[in-house]
Amino acid sequence: MMDVPFWNREIETAERSCLRRLQLQRLRDTVGWALQTHLYKRKLGQAGIHAPDDIKSLQDLRRIPYTTKDDLRLSFPKGLLAVDMTEVIRVHSSSGTTGIPTVIYFARDDVDNWTDLLARSIVGAGATPADVFQNMMTYGMFTGGLGLHYGAERVGMTVIPIGGGNTKRQIQTMKDFQTTVLHVTPSYLLHIHSKLGEDGIHREDLALRKAFIGAEPHSENTRRKLQDLLHIDAYNSYGLSELNGPGVAFECVCKKDMHVWEDAYIAEVINPDTGAVLKEGEEGELVLTNLVRRATPILRYRTRDLAFLYPQGCDCGRTHRRLSRILGRTDDMLIINGVNVFPSQIEERIMKIPEVATNYQIHVDKKGVLDRLTVRVEICPKLFLGEATVLEALKRKIVEELRSSIVISPQVELHEPGSLPVFEGKAKRVVDERPKD
Ligand code: ADP
Ligand code: ZN
Repeated sequence: MMDVPFWNREIETAERSCLRRLQLQRLRDTVGWALQTHLYKRKLGQAGIHAPDDIKSLQDLRRIPYTTKDDLRLSFPKGLLAVDMTEVIRVHSSSGTTGIPTVIYFARDDVDNWTDLLARSIVGAGATPADVFQNMMTYGMFTGGLGLHYGAERVGMTVIPIGGGNTKRQIQTMKDFQTTVLHVTPSYLLHIHSKLGEDGIHREDLALRKAFIGAEPHSENTRRKLQDLLHIDAYNSYGLSELNGPGVAFECVCKKDMHVWEDAYIAEVINPDTGAVLKEGEEGELVLTNLVRRATPILRYRTRDLAFLYPQGCDCGRTHRRLSRILGRTDDMLIINGVNVFPSQIEERIMKIPEVATNYQIHVDKKGVLDRLTVRVEICPKLFLGEATVLEALKRKIVEELRSSIVISPQVELHEPGSLPVFEGKAKRVVDERPKD
């Protein structure tokens, strides 16, 4: 066993049988709370579940119907509220990447439990009270800001609640306070890297050692690129506001994908078309159940995130199963002339190519009856001054690389660094201008 840091060693390394007992007990509690809400009174009632005791074993989880984003939307504003409003101390909502936001209520214990999961995640990724933590995620209703903020304070780090955006100020602040750990979207960190040096502040003026990257899909190649460019360790952080926010799953210092905190969540992976529960190792849609949230308990939520669970443990000794990185979203899939394409496949390939800089955009439109996919990539500045034949060769190389992954041949455009739109929060990489019919 490696000598690795723990926040709560007992729970993080608990025997699987203990974890399962705890899950059953907490699932019953959660069903009891859920039955207080309009939504679940109806949904659970239809499945013949009227009291916590109707859940006899963890197998009975399968009797509980799935919850969808639409269920949450239709329950707006209070259909999912399980406690009296006087007990609610905070409201968060999802960032609404794909539609109307959904609202989540937190009671005092909910904030406390969530904070603890984040403290656990942060310590598991090797950060300590000696670290200076610059939180570049957007604050406000979005859970990325306050979630990690509370967790980092609980660990005892020095927290800089700078929030998203204002790249110059971010860089200056990293220097002034000798920031050691960042929380940031991978796309924004790539952008920050591209701006280093502009105001005379270089990497060697900074004390950076780690970054927690999350909130948007990214590939292993992007992680590597960030690590190499910035000489840091980058750790994947996964969560969604429906299930609290960040802290659902987080990488430990082994950096071999993320531990799902199974004392607080039950993770399942299902076939998104049939709803059948899949085995460990099989890729499908991640479904999550809250085990410790009173004010807005959510059962078997279909995340629309595609991933798989690892069957085996981890070198760190934690017994909580690991989740793969998010391989795509069932709803960001593009269909290009009948071929399914995930933006993550494109990202993975282009980030492997050293001449490609840090920003790109996926553009889709129609030419006649056919869909046209164009991948716009920024390339390294010095290449731009080079010969046209070099650029042509690079273009062909990118097309080839993409074709081997997504089967179709996209158009590729090479752009000057700094010319494509930049996002300070979650990047919007896909511009789909096909007429909606
Ligand atoms: P929205 O669905 O409106 O974007 P959230 O702000 O709650 O709502 O974002 C949660 C979603 O962000 C997840 O369902 C997932 O698709 C994406 N996400 C969060 N963390 C990661 C990560 N580490 N890797 C890939 N995708 C992530
Ligand atoms: Zn581990």
